[in-house]
Amino acid sequence: MSQSVVRFPVTCPVCKQELLIGAVLKTVLHLLATDRPVKLRAQCARHKVVWVANAIERDQIQEYMDAVQLPFSKKVVRLAWWRPSIA
Ligand SMILES: [Zn+2]
Repeated sequence: MSQSVVRFPVTCPVCKQELLIGAVLKTVLHLLATDRPVKLRAQCARHKVVWVANAIERDQIQEYMDAVQLPFSKKVVRLAWWRPSIA
């Protein structure tokens, strides 16, 4: 599987500024699925912060992951469907 990077919004824990951060989809999905801490890294205009996502943030991230995965899984299904006719 490719190292697709997904972007999702987070809030800077210091100044509450909304930021978009990028993370490797596969890694984040694995952490969420195995109940491991998800480390978030954000750099707003004033701060460079690293923190662990709380329950609310995990839910939000999960929603984003579900949203980005939807078109991807559709593509996989279509490829799988086409493969027999190619081979
Ligand atoms: Zn900030």
